[in-house]
Amino acid sequence: MLYDFLLIGHGLAGSILAETLSEAGYKILVIDTPKPNSASNVAAGLMNPLAGKRFAKSWLADTLVPFATSFYQDLEARFNQQLFYPKPILKLFSSVEEQNNWMGKSAGTTYGDFIKEVYTSLPASDVISQEKGGILIDKGGYVLVPVLLEILRVHRLHKQELITESFEFIDLQLQDNYIKYQDIEAKEIIFCEGYKGAENPFFKWLPFSLNKGEVLDVKALDFPDEYIYNKAVYVVGAGAERVRIGATYNWRQADEEPTETGREELLHKAQDLIKKPLTVVAHKAGIRPAVRDRRPLIGSHPEQNNVKIFNGMGSKGVMMAPYLASHFAKVLEAKEDLLPEVNISRYFSLLKEHKKLQ
Ligand SMILES: Cc1cc2nc3c(=O)[nH]c(=O)nc-3n(C[C@H](O)[C@H](O)[C@H](O)COP(=O)(O)OP(=O)(O)OC[C@H]3O[C@@H](n4cnc5c(N)ncnc54)[C@H](O)[C@@H]3O)c2cc1C
Repeated sequence: MLYDFLLIGHGLAGSILAETLSEAGYKILVIDTPKPNSASNVAAGLMNPLAGKRFAKSWLADTLVPFATSFYQDLEARFNQQLFYPKPILKLFSSVEEQNNWMGKSAGTTYGDFIKEVYTSLPASDVISQEKGGILIDKGGYVLVPVLLEILRVHRLHKQELITESFEFIDLQLQDNYIKYQDIEAKEIIFCEGYKGAENPFFKWLPFSLNKGEVLDVKALDFPDEYIYNKAVYVVGAGAERVRIGATYNWRQADEEPTETGREELLHKAQDLIKKPLTVVAHKAGIRPAVRDRRPLIGSHPEQNNVKIFNGMGSKGVMMAPYLASHFAKVLEAKEDLLPEVNISRYFSLLKEHKKLQ
């Protein structure tokens, strides 16, 4: 059988693209080696329309957030399993200065309807340090990503669209109109390998800026679950009476080992938010497929049109993958032009430089 697309990788990016293409009627096959510490499996799963150190409105948030919300809710209805937990995000102030800054900022129009409320103070709590108030961010929530991946994995296996093995580049042959991998033939191959994309022989010239992150799962006990909390760290529900505290950002280390430094950093920051003693039940690390300009990497190889990439979701895969998968599917059908901000064509000059150095 000639597949339309062979996809490599079944993390958030690959699984959502595979589901989107399969639902659009394409014949697909996915090859993946499941990894307990893939970025997708350790992610806090947060969808936050205002993010980064300054809590600016995220790129394309007005489009990405509603699209992702209905994508996950559709999956929930089809698979009869809750995946997305819509919850306001309470970003707590650490100082009066921060409070004043936000009072000014939130009065502007930049944040649209994502800011629900600004509190100059909140009632004292036994559990949360919230007395200085905070901002309440609307339309956020979290996805239990491992549950999502497992549901889609079982679904793909059931449809005979997934092979669990390692993809080896040596076995790939490129022809003009199709690709051949061992005895599999497909019109196109799409790489969704997460941070491993930085080692992909076709795409290693792209400016990945890999970023290690660590998270801690602690016993939730009497932790209030009305909000997702943020104050230097996030505290997000993680199922099974746990909450996940995250995350660290480390551009200097590209391994997947949890570290004592990471644990200390998270516990130290969490103590400024949570008043109770914390019992750590898990400590995980993964590598975010981040990119120099903080935008995804999508498109066709400039010299090999049937070799494509869907990657670079950085720290926002939950929010970005559903819309970008749908957009990419339409681009593949020639119904839309690829958004210039995500198109790898913005980096084609780097391929020339890469070749000169070889
Ligand atoms: C600590 C941490 C916290 C995070 N928190 C959030 C958050 O709250 N919200 C959010 O939106 N994002 C978060 N992220 C980022 C998010 O995890 C990523 O944006 C997203 O998961 C990337 O998905 P991916 O599919 O591109 O990569 P991955 O999850 O790395 O998946 C890639 C898959 O490809 C497979 N693969 C690669 N090479 C091969 C090969 N040769 N053969 C077979 N299989 C292969 C891998 O085994 C893996 O299964 C966080 C990341 C980290 C590390």
